[in-house]
Amino acid sequence: MVSPREILESARREGRKFLLEHESKELISLYGIPVTKVKLSKSEEEAVQAAEEIGYPVVLKIVSPQVIHKSDVGGVIVNLKNEEEVRKAYREILENVRSKVPEAEIVGILVQEFAPPGLELIIGLTRDPQFGPTVMFGLGGIFVEVFEDVSFRVAPLTEEDAEGMLREIKGYKLLLGYRGSEPVDLESLKRAIVRVGDIGVENSEIAEMDLNPVIAYPDGIKVVDARIILG
Ligand code: ADP
Ligand code: MG
Repeated sequence: MVSPREILESARREGRKFLLEHESKELISLYGIPVTKVKLSKSEEEAVQAAEEIGYPVVLKIVSPQVIHKSDVGGVIVNLKNEEEVRKAYREILENVRSKVPEAEIVGILVQEFAPPGLELIIGLTRDPQFGPTVMFGLGGIFVEVFEDVSFRVAPLTEEDAEGMLREIKGYKLLLGYRGSEPVDLESLKRAIVRVGDIGVENSEIAEMDLNPVIAYPDGIKVVDARIILG
């Protein structure tokens, strides 16, 4: 099994200051944070093969160092139910990216498990010049972008710190379930928040990390997109 150090070093060797999605997911999964199953494909045939292995439905995404916001350039197609849809999506993504980002170097197409709808959350890591690694938590989408409803703690964190971060946001009640929806798995969520802090403490070369979205369910959580930026 690879180590976090090996993942970080191989990106450095290629002259990159960030990890690609599958590398970021591999690193955080070494810390026990649940991520979608992923397989990198380099051809349409490989993508179909990967989809069969992962199991339908799947999601296809562009993997390119020049594409940071994948969905902005038509680089993400979700909920593909069979081989035909995978083949079509594979071609469509390449076409979209080639026309919108002609200079993009294409590493491949990432095939991954489709995570069913749930509560979308964000967990982030930044490095404060004074306090060091700092974990951020919030509800996804407009809650973060419009209401800026987030909480912060300096790592390392205890489960109690993580609990405090959950309770602090205005949208806390959404985690507990409302209008008949079930509460999300708070224990798994707190563990993931603590582990993000540990990653920051143990890997000083990680400048920033963005898990967005993390989808929370009554029986677990899953990281659907991950980005790690090196210092
Ligand atoms: P980016 O943030 O680079 O545009 P994402 O990987 O976050 O790309 O994908 C965009 C959106 O597509 C996500 O916010 C999520 O709603 C959806 N999505 C991405 N991957 C999956 C997945 N594996 N399962 C379900 N939905 C997904
Ligand atoms: Mg994203």
